[in-house]
Amino acid sequence: MNVEAKLGIRTTEPIWRGRRFIWNKPDSWVPFLGSWLSPRFRADGMDRLRPGIYRNICWDDPKWSSILNESLRGDFDSYKQELADFLEHAIMRTFHGCRTDDAGIYFRGGLRLHDRNEMTAKLRMIIEKNAELHWMRDRVDEAVREVDNTVDEARLYVVADDAFLLQHAAHYLIYGSEWITAVLGSSGRRVLKNIGVPTLLEIDLPLSMSGPQTRMELAARMLNEWTRFTCNTPDWSAPIDFSFCLRVDIPASCIVGHSHPAKLRDPLNGRDLYHSPKTVCAYCD
Ligand SMILES: [Zn+2]
Repeated sequence: MNVEAKLGIRTTEPIWRGRRFIWNKPDSWVPFLGSWLSPRFRADGMDRLRPGIYRNICWDDPKWSSILNESLRGDFDSYKQELADFLEHAIMRTFHGCRTDDAGIYFRGGLRLHDRNEMTAKLRMIIEKNAELHWMRDRVDEAVREVDNTVDEARLYVVADDAFLLQHAAHYLIYGSEWITAVLGSSGRRVLKNIGVPTLLEIDLPLSMSGPQTRMELAARMLNEWTRFTCNTPDWSAPIDFSFCLRVDIPASCIVGHSHPAKLRDPLNGRDLYHSPKTVCAYCD
């Protein structure tokens, strides 16, 4: 008999099936995680969790796991695994930064895996269309070899926190593809800044598209943040540096919104403030 059966806990949890949630909108998941945890608590679990004092612990301190563990009937790791399994049925708002003239291509065709042949063709087209890059025409293969980066191939990244993306990784919006930016080098950046519009895509990601290990890590972050919320009732959501590395295309039906931030901090230029000359794309019109 498994631990849930011994504790009389149902092992099917409709609470997570099709549930949509957004990390930095705690109302969309914190109460549901609380309901899910409730039958897994010791009788005095809430008293242990909230002894009537503010816990002066940083939001990213792993101690939150041990605090929760002391309130549970089973152990933290087994519930983390169980939650990760249920999260497979949930949908999380995620974000992707890019630079495009027309966000409609994503609403029509979805977000596709990095295809190196396609990206190389795009790279050659950018060089061809911009006279100041013509000197690179005959050394594209060499520049690609020098960058020697195949880590993005057949992969696609989305993140759980738009604020964190804009704060620390806005180069995806300022320059577009990280690989093309690297191959073109510093001389290409001025050109890339004139192609398209910085774009933040919003994606409702079925977590079934992510791997079990990623869901396990997400479950741990959710349990820790839930514990922080329940103990200290903060009025702010903790930032989360969390990426999903996908190996399948995201269908168009999952793309739910887009925006064009006007001001961004450029991590490739000493975090200088970048003002976008355009904040409207063809799809906005
Ligand atoms: Zn637009």
